[in-house]
Amino acid sequence: MFLLVVISVSVFAQTPPKNIERPKLVVGIMVDQMRQEYLLRYYSKFSDTGFKRLMNDGFMVKNGHYNYAPTVTGPGHASVYTGTTPAIHGIIGNAWYDKQLKKDVNCVEDPNQMVIGSPEGNGDVSPWRMMTSTVTDELKLFSQKKSKVIGMSIKDRGAVLPAGHMADGAYWFDGKTGSFITSTYYTDKMPAWAEKFNNQKLADKYLSQEWKTFYPITEYTESGPDDSPYERKFAGTDRPTFPYDLAKLRKPDSYDLLSFTPFANDYLTEFAKSALDGEKLGQATTTDFLAISYSSTDILGHSVGPTSVELEDMYIRLDRNIADLLKTLDAKIGAGKYTVFLTADHAVSDVAQYLKDNRMPGGYVANSANKVNLQEYLKQYFPDKDVIETIDGDRIYLNQRAFQSDPKASGIEMLVATELITNFLMAQDGIAYVFSENVLRQGRFDEDGIKGMVIRGYHPKRSGDLVTITEAGWYGSGSVQGTTHGSPYKYDTHVPMLFFGFGVKKGSTVKYHPITDIAPTISMLLNITLPSGCTGQPIVELMDN
Ligand code: ZN
Ligand code: ZN
Repeated sequence: MFLLVVISVSVFAQTPPKNIERPKLVVGIMVDQMRQEYLLRYYSKFSDTGFKRLMNDGFMVKNGHYNYAPTVTGPGHASVYTGTTPAIHGIIGNAWYDKQLKKDVNCVEDPNQMVIGSPEGNGDVSPWRMMTSTVTDELKLFSQKKSKVIGMSIKDRGAVLPAGHMADGAYWFDGKTGSFITSTYYTDKMPAWAEKFNNQKLADKYLSQEWKTFYPITEYTESGPDDSPYERKFAGTDRPTFPYDLAKLRKPDSYDLLSFTPFANDYLTEFAKSALDGEKLGQATTTDFLAISYSSTDILGHSVGPTSVELEDMYIRLDRNIADLLKTLDAKIGAGKYTVFLTADHAVSDVAQYLKDNRMPGGYVANSANKVNLQEYLKQYFPDKDVIETIDGDRIYLNQRAFQSDPKASGIEMLVATELITNFLMAQDGIAYVFSENVLRQGRFDEDGIKGMVIRGYHPKRSGDLVTITEAGWYGSGSVQGTTHGSPYKYDTHVPMLFFGFGVKKGSTVKYHPITDIAPTISMLLNITLPSGCTGQPIVELMDN
């Protein structure tokens, strides 16, 4: 009896809060192709107020991973914001073969939209192919659309997918004019603040300068030599070495070079600061959301790989962009009144040739030769049929019509063709697995291992009839310079997951968390509805209550 009284007193001693507290603003930062290890490798080169402030004053998930393949940009951005994987949100690639249209479609391509802000820029863009809601959509639904949601990136998909279906705006970089542009999905006219920003012509200023290292080049001991055989050269140079005279290297009437340089990150940061003012983000009673995706880390990263002085310099400078952004948020919103998270859409492989040269497993899958040889091989068994409709990277689509001419034989013939293709591909160098549609269909969403990664990345209506997975360290490319990503292996899945500010405790964990845990964590911090297809769980370790 006495014990019962004590318990009830302690329960009622807590006064319930009068209101549900929420941050004024959430800033989601994606760094395209960022490995988790960059936080630690470049640590001593960072300022105290950028990445280190997020790491040391916020919460760091040290063992955060993508939990599906393919680990590429469109699926990565969609998965972070929907809290689920391509099997459910439907963004299975940056582009894929559309079985009805019988052609390749880009993940954010929308034939019903047109560009706004540049006469010929790429603007037939919207999030319409994303099949479940984002955390940003749920914020709009929850607040009766009073919350403002803005997305921005150098890449269109980096802006559009995070901002979701109900966004107030999404902006991306136009390589022809050097301006930020949008589409008719969002507006019929660029807002005044964005037009004023574009009129400053900052892209011209950035491309008139030299890119030199931030610190003396001898201090870049975390990376390999500047003159490396594993790096692609910038067009117009004979060696991949500093300094880069951008005014000389740029092509007339094109701003594309900017996206390979750290100045594109400066540019996006300046655009974000303009949006904070122009859209009055974080100034109302409802929570607003700014989704920023830095793309140049990926665009440069593909060319020079993860151990280049160029990439290290870009991260040292991006750290200053993050510091600048946080300082601006402190001044405009107030420290502790906003929440930030930072992650990546995938990580990246070492240069395969570098691995090979150092007796590590790795290599190049002969994709084009395999394609030709596979077609010839199948002709022996099906002389009067075109068995394969198309091979789209690691996805193979069978020609369903070819088998339908004889309904009695079609099922058996399809099975035979699937087995033949599997056996042929499994005999090729660098191919580790071939999964057929019926194997994946019968698998469980939460299955372990590589097969589980493929199941979570496979959408039954959009993906192919067979999926190939390479061995670790292998990818399909002819070039011994530069690198890529897309595999289910740790070098492609392991990304930073940092949380900071309102509602977030200081600390870190080495516990495994899939990337799909980010969206439900933000939903819980915001006290709003979960994204419709969410399969992740909130990260309880970081909750500040
Ligand atoms: Zn990417
Ligand atoms: Zn990439």
